[in-house]
Amino acid sequence: QLIAKKHDQDMTLVSLSSEVIFGGEEVVIIGGPCSVESQEQMDTVAEKLSAAPVQALRGGVYKPRTLPYSFQGLGQAGLEILARVRREHQIPVVTEVMAIAQIEELAAVADLLQVGSRNMQNFDLLKALGQAGKPILLKRGLAATIEEFLGAAEYIVSHGNPQVVLCERGIRSFDNFTRNVLDLGAVVALKQLTHLPVIVDPSHAVGKRELVAPLAKAAIACGADGLIIECHPEPEQSISDARQALSLEDMVALVHSLQPVAAAI
Ligand code: PEP
Ligand code: MN
Repeated sequence: QLIAKKHDQDMTLVSLSSEVIFGGEEVVIIGGPCSVESQEQMDTVAEKLSAAPVQALRGGVYKPRTLPYSFQGLGQAGLEILARVRREHQIPVVTEVMAIAQIEELAAVADLLQVGSRNMQNFDLLKALGQAGKPILLKRGLAATIEEFLGAAEYIVSHGNPQVVLCERGIRSFDNFTRNVLDLGAVVALKQLTHLPVIVDPSHAVGKRELVAPLAKAAIACGADGLIIECHPEPEQSISDARQALSLEDMVALVHSLQPVAAAI
């Protein structure tokens, strides 16, 4: 398999810019809201987070919601907001691609295209992303085994795109006290099995803001190459995933608290 780590092989570096590189010495932090809601929201996020430093911004414009009646994302209008925040704040942006038909317009703006959990085994989408010409953030499926996760990444790489970052975001289990169960064992295993960078999303893993920071630290301590964390200028007002959103102040404090952990490993 192309993504399997062979003896003594160098890690794949996935670059969003000359400074933002997954798999290198530095841990990469991605922060931002679940959904892009307004220009003002994204400007506030960019302003507060770029000093933290947070290296890239996240924000969904096409949202995979459980119910068709829930907010589905701002779509094209959201993408324009993302393009503007990227340009004005000189910061890479990450957004989710749900369909082959969205690839072209999203790739024109985003520096990293996210494949969400619900699409981890959408094989036609994965094959098409092999030709997207942009790095891909592949999130682990809701109940995907490590082997299935690696198989999904192999689809993208074997179709022509070696720039893949894996993301552990929690898996389904019997207890729904936390939204999902963060599988840090998988992070350690993936780092041994593949040369691709591995990051962690503690927000979707736990689903409760008060549990995010300790797990973010644990993820770095066990070797994750980065984090993707949801935060919002007014967390309680978030249109989607409000319960897990950190305030921007808490996000900045978390980023600072990660520095000694990253330095220790
Ligand atoms: C998200 O990042 O907002 C998201 C929907 O993530 P996941 O696919 O991990 O549920
Ligand atoms: Mn979300």
